[in-house]
Amino acid sequence: SHSSSSLISFTKRRRKHQPLVSSSSIRMEQYYSPQKNRKDKVVVILGATGAGKSKLSVDLATRFPSEIINSDKIQVYEGLEITTNQITLQDRRGVPHHLLGYLNPEHGELTAAEFRSAASNAVSDITSRQKLPIIAGGSNSFIHALLAQRFDPKIDPFSSGSGLITSDLRYECRFIWVDVSEIVLYEYLLKRVDEMMDSGMFEELSGFYDPVKSGLTPRFGIRKAIGVPEFDGYFKEYPPETIKWDDDDGLRKAAYDKAVDDIKRNTWTLAKRQIKKIEMLKDAGWEIERVDATASFKEVMKMSSSSEKWREVWEEQVLEPSVKIVKRLLVE
Ligand code: ATP
Repeated sequence: SHSSSSLISFTKRRRKHQPLVSSSSIRMEQYYSPQKNRKDKVVVILGATGAGKSKLSVDLATRFPSEIINSDKIQVYEGLEITTNQITLQDRRGVPHHLLGYLNPEHGELTAAEFRSAASNAVSDITSRQKLPIIAGGSNSFIHALLAQRFDPKIDPFSSGSGLITSDLRYECRFIWVDVSEIVLYEYLLKRVDEMMDSGMFEELSGFYDPVKSGLTPRFGIRKAIGVPEFDGYFKEYPPETIKWDDDDGLRKAAYDKAVDDIKRNTWTLAKRQIKKIEMLKDAGWEIERVDATASFKEVMKMSSSSEKWREVWEEQVLEPSVKIVKRLLVE
């Protein structure tokens, strides 16, 4: 396990508030029995990179007996935990996570079809143990592949308007979109990249660099992770371990700064693309309920001393509405 790189890493500080609903007061059997001829129930957490999907999924899982299924196509691989923002063991708070950091990247790329099969097995397994599956992750094409009643691996549902997105889903779904206003998310993501670099992303990428593999195209699997291509040019020029960092080396610093800037730009491009895809799913008729994490992120950005304010705002504006959404699914 590595030190957390998230600005809103939520176990760093002691919890001040009791959970809204203690998990012991809710028994799944009260609401939840898998029934024949009824679709399995799942909660799906959507959102751009950095918006707090992992945090919300664990927060919900500590309130309802549930397990989390990762739907980020890069986080399925083992390795590069800081670079890919994999949730730390500590932040998982004992909640089982499926399809997270388990695939050896050398074994090839996980296709949408394989994800559909592996994730639907996880849904059945979790449901059979009377728990609620919570699907969380940023790969909307994987989410579409998992949920589609009929899945066609040849079709990219996002390739042309929302016409190719199916609204015939094989589970009873509740969609929660953790949304943060673009300007606040942008500022947050810039800061997050700097924080990731400070918490060991550069060292992680140094250890991962492979002069042979980095030359191969197309890239596959974890080598597509934002950070790997951006630092290839740098490591080619300054191979890890061979050259000692010299603070006076202006060229080297410029190459480093360029790689970090590229990471920031590409992270923002990814976030915008993800938001666009979520809007397309909505347009196609998916009943996506938006919760607004903007105010909470504004508090995080203030970082005013020991302020626990963001946590209060998060619980009030993000967690509470999400808990209501999940309760509705369970009692129906
Ligand atoms: P696409 O059709 O572009 O594959 P998608 O929704 O299937 O869309 P995304 O999850 O948006 O796939 O990922 C697209 C790219 O974004 C990845 O190939 C990678 O470069 C980058 N990316 C996504 N998730 C991460 C992550 N956790 N860490 C680093 N880079 C990521």
